[in-house]
Amino acid sequence: MPDTNQQTAKQPDIKSRYNAKAYSAGSAISRLAASTIPRRNPAANDVQIEILFCGVCHSDIHQVRNEWKEVMPTVYPVVPGHEILGRVTQVGAAVTKFKAGDLAAVGCLVDSDRSCPQCQDGLEQFCPNAVLTYNGTDKHLGGVTYGGYSDSIVVDEHFVLRVPSNLDLAGAAPLLCAGITTYSPLRHWGVTKGKKVGVVGLGGLGHMAVKLAHAMGAHVVVFTTSPNKTEDALRLGADEVVVSRNNNEMQKHAGSFDFILDAVAANHDINAYINLLARDGNITLVGAPEKPLAVAAFSLIGARRSLSGSPIGGIKETQEMLDFCGTHNITADVEVIPIQKINEAYERMLKSDVKYRFSIDMASLKSE
Ligand code: NAP
Ligand code: ZN
Repeated sequence: MPDTNQQTAKQPDIKSRYNAKAYSAGSAISRLAASTIPRRNPAANDVQIEILFCGVCHSDIHQVRNEWKEVMPTVYPVVPGHEILGRVTQVGAAVTKFKAGDLAAVGCLVDSDRSCPQCQDGLEQFCPNAVLTYNGTDKHLGGVTYGGYSDSIVVDEHFVLRVPSNLDLAGAAPLLCAGITTYSPLRHWGVTKGKKVGVVGLGGLGHMAVKLAHAMGAHVVVFTTSPNKTEDALRLGADEVVVSRNNNEMQKHAGSFDFILDAVAANHDINAYINLLARDGNITLVGAPEKPLAVAAFSLIGARRSLSGSPIGGIKETQEMLDFCGTHNITADVEVIPIQKINEAYERMLKSDVKYRFSIDMASLKSE
């Protein structure tokens, strides 16, 4: 993950900002509650978006609760949300990609230096100066960036995505993180027809991985700790479902996978999955549990297997993913909630009780 804590803020200019409504948490043990945050007025290259829906990612919970303090400590108050979908309300004079009234989306990134080798390759997620959508350094107003649990956001047009018009809006919002975070490693590791692909954890990311890998033509096996998700997994596009607590079922797949995507948010035994890889197979972690995972050396050595990680995706690939989802009519399965239910939603996610992504209807913020 890029370092987002560099202090390069300019002196804020009061006239260049307005107040937006938001939901924020004041500390690692606070509930989220209504608040007001500053947003900049759109400059020449900026797009102002009225947020219609914002998906709820498990990363929001990790960061509200400061569970990633070793890597990216949370600055409070924090306004989470990086699965943002809305309608353009205003654009700056130099904006060419968008006009007022267009659908637009924003994911986990709102800026980068755009000159480093990573940016030149369209891989802004690896830019050392990338700015995350929330808890990143706000170069315009000072302090930190505020995310999508809000009624509006202002973002440089380079980091604003086009949304295919056929997609359901509430279900399309989660594509901006859960979609790209799974699409990118599936593409990177060459998932196509004829490949055997495992998906571990049928949550927000996992269920997107199943839909995407299925659309790419792979044979998809879901590993879940929740037996009651079996039918859903098959409906979402899995060819087989394994309840991972059943060791016999696990052993039937030993040494057989080309690729496994691990999207689990909590501590778990990753060796059980490494052993299911074929020779030269790869397992990629997208899940980011708070505590380190223990890896048995011989699980990797024995069959020249590899273990990787993958963060979100660059802007070019995010647009490619959205267009792919438009073509294949893929959106997240969502439970739409008002913002007032967000604290309850977090508790339910921690119990794996969401099918399969919460999407906040931001109109609910108007009554606050
Ligand atoms: P989520 O919706 O809460 O899903 C996580 C799933 O993990 C659960 O539905 C559950 O699936 C499984 N699980 C939970 N606790 C488990 C346990 N103790 N043992 C085994 N399995 C367990 O979360 P999400 O939003 O998809 O995010 C998943 C992880 O990816 C989080 O850590 C998040 O921060 C991370 N993330 C990373 C990136 C990145 O750039 N790499 C981007 C976004 C999110 P079953 O019920 O099927 O077992
Ligand atoms: Zn996310």
